[in-house]
Amino acid sequence: MFESLSDRLSGILDKLTRRGALSEADVSEAMREVRRALLEADVALDVVKDFIDRVKQKAVGQEVVKSVAPGQMVIKIVHDELIETLGRDPQPIDLAAAVPVVMMMVGLQGSGKTTTTAKLAKRLQTRERQKVLMASLDTRRPAAQEQLKILGEQTDVATLPIVEGEDPVTITKRAMDAARRGGFDVLLLDTAGRTHIDEELMAETASIEKASNPHETLLVADALTGQDAVNLAQSFDRCVSLTGIVLTRIDGDGRGGAALSMRAVTGKPIKLLGTGEKIDALEDFHPDRIANRILG
Ligand code: GDP
Repeated sequence: MFESLSDRLSGILDKLTRRGALSEADVSEAMREVRRALLEADVALDVVKDFIDRVKQKAVGQEVVKSVAPGQMVIKIVHDELIETLGRDPQPIDLAAAVPVVMMMVGLQGSGKTTTTAKLAKRLQTRERQKVLMASLDTRRPAAQEQLKILGEQTDVATLPIVEGEDPVTITKRAMDAARRGGFDVLLLDTAGRTHIDEELMAETASIEKASNPHETLLVADALTGQDAVNLAQSFDRCVSLTGIVLTRIDGDGRGGAALSMRAVTGKPIKLLGTGEKIDALEDFHPDRIANRILG
């Protein structure tokens, strides 16, 4: 993950450290190359501009060119500003609410929503010792509810029994009732996806939010879609109050554009990363660790 961006940035920054003494022109030239690398990694233009401005400002302010190891100082500044862009502090899933804590998963079809629901359920159950109930509200795709049921069986997480012919809001209410009666700590709602955003999807998602008043509303977005993932987050946030993002398919994402732009553009924290198809391939999002990975 982030291999291609990491290679590019390491190449540019290594060149700086090998030079010893640096002029301001050397730093500016390197920043032009960093700018190009970030744009090629599909990082949003405004985010890139802001990032480069901040690095330059600090590099001048700290009199980098006069220091003993100017290249190292530039790397440190780039590292710190990457962390800043990524959102600085980790934002874990928040369980601090009255039980059952409702979490709603939203996103497009194929983004990994159902898999992520099961991954999160399993993690909350094993790591946080929460009693978790999952419910699929996807009444459109015939196999969707069945898919979540099978994942529940595989992971030992309870799923709401399937009742044919119910609409998503009715299922939501039944799920909340079952969670309360069954003494569950967390209820995960896997909403229906579509291939693209449309009014009907937004209206349905908003009505589920109204019926369930979720403590977490997580957008599951495919990192490989780059800026589309960021635009998607903005669109969803206009209709429901997103509390965080889960970026999936990070395992195949050499560029990192969505991961790097998401926080700065949307103001929403990335909370989790999907790093594979297996049920335990879910990682907390730590800006400092990601910055380390990107800088190699
Ligand atoms: P949904 O339509 O959004 O519910 O998507 P699914 O959960 O059915 O996932 C679609 C496909 O993506 C499945 O084959 C998953 O195994 C796969 N998938 C989900 N998350 C990840 C991930 O983080 N990495 C990889 N490589 N595949 C994933």
